[in-house]
Amino acid sequence: MQREPQAFDRVLSSMCTTPHPVAREAAERFLATNPGDPGTYPTISALEDEAIELLGEVAGLDDPAGYVASGGTEANIQAVRIARERARSTAATAETPTVVMPQSGHFSFQKAANVLGVDLELVPTDDEHRVDLEAVRACVDETTAMVVGVAGTTEYGRVDPIPELAEIAQSVDALLHVDAAWGGFVLPFTDHAWHFDHAPVDTMAIDPHKMGQAAVPAGGLLVRDETLLDELAVDTPYLESTSQATLTGTRSGAGVASAVAAMEELWPDGYRDQYVRSQNNAEWLAAELATRGYDVVDPELPLVAANVPEATFEALRDAGWRISSTGSGELRVVCMPHVTRTQLESFVAALDALESESETPTATT
Ligand SMILES: *Cc1c(COP(=O)(O)O)cnc(C)c1O
Repeated sequence: MQREPQAFDRVLSSMCTTPHPVAREAAERFLATNPGDPGTYPTISALEDEAIELLGEVAGLDDPAGYVASGGTEANIQAVRIARERARSTAATAETPTVVMPQSGHFSFQKAANVLGVDLELVPTDDEHRVDLEAVRACVDETTAMVVGVAGTTEYGRVDPIPELAEIAQSVDALLHVDAAWGGFVLPFTDHAWHFDHAPVDTMAIDPHKMGQAAVPAGGLLVRDETLLDELAVDTPYLESTSQATLTGTRSGAGVASAVAAMEELWPDGYRDQYVRSQNNAEWLAAELATRGYDVVDPELPLVAANVPEATFEALRDAGWRISSTGSGELRVVCMPHVTRTQLESFVAALDALESESETPTATT
């Protein structure tokens, strides 16, 4: 029996989406290629250079270096690895290098710290869910190898004050990493300061397979300067190319080709139109929920969090809605490109039906 993937019509929790048709087509065409072996697969390798050029345009970086990773997780792990190697060669102390990150940072940094043997120091966020700068200042010292700022947090879509974080990082000779895995393809159309041209950012995670509408797996690691990538390079005796900076060996050319196809098709106008649609949807949903008396976190980017009772949340999930919750238990809806106004209207209608049921207990028996 042929299996079919599930539909996206009730998916409100995903940070990925249906690939753009040109991205899907390119992914299928390049399925049997391996950019991990550029001597054997020069076509996809050249396409990867194009992907990095395009990502550089999105992220305000002339002459960018980097590669198409399997996702934000790999990009974050590799950024931490760069910082650790830097610290090992230049640090004034032999103590374990540390990474200073807001509590709102992604759990992939826990993996990075664990794999790489660095200490992760979490600093609190303020009432607006952005990192508390005073707490960062108090936390950094000569062991700090990297300061992380998030540009589009996973839970609330918040952007940390990147220029201020860069200044703090420089004050202790640490690298500044910006995690724009999700936010990178919507932030160019906002007035946030988040990228290489806004601040001395050293490294960045930016995922084509999230808001970029490319097929999975397509993440992006960007570095300001090629020499930062050298920290990752290992010799590759059996390949034609002499060194490799990626974490994976064999990897999918599908993600690379689809990232290029999506960016060529959509950057910048298509992404701008999508951002406007998604942001309008998020604001519409936030207003509808607020009207019904729920506490709503203001959607700064297309992501809505609201305090919905646990029983209602569970009932919505039982009804087939794919929704998720924040660490503090709020309902979280990510307005990805596949999420339409019609879909959100039926979601709100489902919510209303549940709430009126619970208000008139006789109707439920
Ligand atoms: C999704 C996300 C990640 C992880 O990316 P994957 O592609 O799932 O590995 C990292 N950071 C942020 C901010 C994210 O939203």
